[in-house]
Amino acid sequence: MVKNKKCKYIFVTGGVLSGVGKGITAASMGAILKAKGYKVTMQKCDPYLNVDAGLLNPVEHGECYVTHDGVETDLDLGHYERFLDFETNKYSITLSGGIYKELIEKERSGGFHGKTVQLVPHFTNLVCEKIERASANSDIHIVEIGGTVGDYEGLPFVEAIRLFANKVGRRNCLYLSVVYVPFINTSKELKTKPAQNALKDLRGFGIIPDIVCVRTEKPCPRAICEKIAAFSGISSDAVVNLPDINSVYDVPFNVLKSGVLQILNDFIGDDSEPDMTKWEEFSKKRNAKHDRTVTVGLVAKYVGNDDTYICVTEALKAAAAWNDVDLDLRWINAEELASEAPSQALELLESCDGIVVPGGFGLRGMEGKIKAATYALENDKPYLGLCLGLQMACVAAARRGGLVHAGSEEFLASEDYKKPRDFKNVIYIMPGQEGKESTGGTMRLGDYPAVLDKGSKVARIYRKTKVVERHRHRYEVNQEYLLEIERGGLVVSGTSPDGKLVEFVEAPKNKFFVATQAHPEFKSRPLDVHPLFREFIKSLK
Ligand code: GLN
Repeated sequence: MVKNKKCKYIFVTGGVLSGVGKGITAASMGAILKAKGYKVTMQKCDPYLNVDAGLLNPVEHGECYVTHDGVETDLDLGHYERFLDFETNKYSITLSGGIYKELIEKERSGGFHGKTVQLVPHFTNLVCEKIERASANSDIHIVEIGGTVGDYEGLPFVEAIRLFANKVGRRNCLYLSVVYVPFINTSKELKTKPAQNALKDLRGFGIIPDIVCVRTEKPCPRAICEKIAAFSGISSDAVVNLPDINSVYDVPFNVLKSGVLQILNDFIGDDSEPDMTKWEEFSKKRNAKHDRTVTVGLVAKYVGNDDTYICVTEALKAAAAWNDVDLDLRWINAEELASEAPSQALELLESCDGIVVPGGFGLRGMEGKIKAATYALENDKPYLGLCLGLQMACVAAARRGGLVHAGSEEFLASEDYKKPRDFKNVIYIMPGQEGKESTGGTMRLGDYPAVLDKGSKVARIYRKTKVVERHRHRYEVNQEYLLEIERGGLVVSGTSPDGKLVEFVEAPKNKFFVATQAHPEFKSRPLDVHPLFREFIKSLK
């Protein structure tokens, strides 16, 4: 069945706990292999029953990452893109819900010709097909299985990746298991038993890993790895320690130091050194002592939860490193900011060098974001608006321009909102999208082109007038109110090629006030920072 004969596959599973850096470890290996000159792709198989990640609560599940072809996915795909500087696509994410949906639809339409439909072989074969599909044209394809081995929902995926080796040959597959070894403070001991059990479980499913990454808080004695190796029937060279480290972008260096490179080299039959020059340069920039710290206020509904806005925070951090400044990121509670009374949120806003209003959904926090945009407009405070950040900036400008009750139609979707009689829908629902507000997959998603005005600030920032950015939103700027928006200080500086959709606005009188309907953070890379973030941070220096 496998068409891509030259491809090698790396399967990454986790044991003991999830959330101990499986995705980053996998992506770091990908980055190393890419630095050796290979075409590397990555895929996430997530066992939960959702069909896609679009309707998942970002607080519980982290940011929803959107691929260029418009699929709402897991934040891990963002890590993959940042580490490997490639574009994931709809094949890069495989969820149980999607697999079941496809199987059931096929069954309902008689596609199984009366056969009993089962987890094995139907589910597992379909997963194998998805893996093969996602690996098209690549030299090395890395598949991360979400959760931990032994989770009920994940079992068919584990069986599928075992089965995959039968199809392509075991020598073309490398299994990597990331296990956690906790430190028990009372007895001052590292405990290997959970890791041993996790590896025993994996063995029970017919997989003996080629590499075991032992995650610990601090570097652990070699004896710990040896013990795990001895109890798990794995060669001790294959068990390596990956302790916590300050920055995820140093993990590739940790992986290189750990002895994993030799195993990878043996696997692909290539002893060449990876060219890590760009990574080293970035690491040096990031870890350097800087004289200047810039403070950025992130006006958000969910404060203090890095994962919820991870692409935005990663883009800002990388932009700071490349601008040779330290970043002091301050979370500003949008709801608190909305209150009339003086608040800590307002003080924070005033004390920041610049403001970012990221994307968001729902009425909660919107007035605070409008207030932040108004403040930035009126006080010449650098402002970067991302998606909802553009919409709220337009509402702020329209109000300044005379439309006292300017708002977004998204307000109206909330029962808490009392619509004033002279409500003006400066942000409105996309034509053709009416009535679909609460369902998944109905937004403008993925890449859309925009044309920038020659001579605009954004055209100068991008150094071109045709750009493509990723989108994820339902509402658009209502061009009926452009006059008021302009009177309030903002001009449209980029639109869709047909001029129907507003894509960029900016305040010509301000030092830096730029907002986009898109999510440029999805395309920012640590080694290739998005120009909007780079220039925003530069304006704060
Ligand atoms: N809630 C807004 C919309 O749907 C903005 C979405 C976003 O910021 N991603 O249009």
